[in-house]
Order: sequence, then structure tokens, then C-alpha cells
Amino acid sequence: MLKTKNILDEKDKRLRLVSKEVTFPLEKKDLDMIDLMVEYLTNSQIDDLAEKYDLRPGMGMAAIQLGVAKRFLTIVHEIGEEEFDTYVICNPKLTRTSEEMIYVEDGEGCLSVNRDVTGIVPRHARVTVEGYDVNGNKIKIRAREELAIAFQHELDHLDGILFTDRIDKKNPYKGKDQMRSI
Ligand code: ZN
Repeated sequence: MLKTKNILDEKDKRLRLVSKEVTFPLEKKDLDMIDLMVEYLTNSQIDDLAEKYDLRPGMGMAAIQLGVAKRFLTIVHEIGEEEFDTYVICNPKLTRTSEEMIYVEDGEGCLSVNRDVTGIVPRHARVTVEGYDVNGNKIKIRAREELAIAFQHELDHLDGILFTDRIDKKNPYKGKDQMRSI
């Protein structure tokens, strides 16, 4: 079972690597890692399990956050009381983005950033992500709002980008009036 301490902290330079595309079939160790990532993200969003296993809550994780520079990511999106939609996508690409921009009112979070960061992270309100499932079948996911932000956040990880990079250093609230908060 994955623990919070297994997740790389932002000080770790590996988080800055540009991850490499995967080929199919995926290696067994990658499939095993995907299972661990999904398990962690799910358990971390169930209060009593998060407490029991001391898991910091998160809805998304990219392989590089475990030190593996491969282009796959997982998102476990809570859609109801302990009810989740699980996404696993390999070699993902953003193929459509809305003009409308949004940001998380309370600030974005990341399992690799262990401090409070304030400021606006501009994100597209709606995105289409295309890539492959774990078996190498082509998939297309349309996401909006919180889920769209999660995909953009995790896709950034594959290119070595952290959400903190997207906050304007001089004016962390730049563009606030041009964007909708969620
Ligand atoms: Zn992150």
C-alpha cells in the first residue's frame, strides 16, 4: 500500500522531468503502480480510511510523483458520498480547450506541495483529453469544472510543471476579474 511519504515532494528535482510516452502492453510493474495510485487516491478521500492510514487527501496523481517518468496519470473523482469515477489515461493529450477560464477559489492543492500556496492558477473550464487506456485502446474524456482542472494539473506533471509555476509571482491574483472561481 502506498503511503503519503512515498510521494515525491516539490523539492525533488525528478518532478521537473518531462515524462516519456509509454508503449503497450504496459509493464507489470507499471500496472501494479497504477493499482496502488488508484487505491491511494480512493482511500485518501474516504475519511475513516484516510485517518486510519494517515493519507493526505488527493484526487489526482501522475506517475512522476512516485519517481517514474512515464506519461500516465490517475484521477479519482468523488461524484457522491464515497462514490467515485476513476480515470486512468496513458500518453494523454489535451485536444480541445474552452476559451472560458476558471480557477479554484481556495487555491489548488497537490500531493507534492506540502505548504499553503495562495494565488490564481488559470485553467480551462472544459477540456477534452485523448489518450489510451491501460490496454492500449484509444480513449477520449470530456471534463468540466473540477475534473477539467484535475486533468490540466496532472497533465502539467507529465511536463515537469507544478501548479505553483502558473501563479503570477508579482501579482498572485492577476486576472481574477476575467475568470470564474469554483
Ligand atoms: Zn500535483
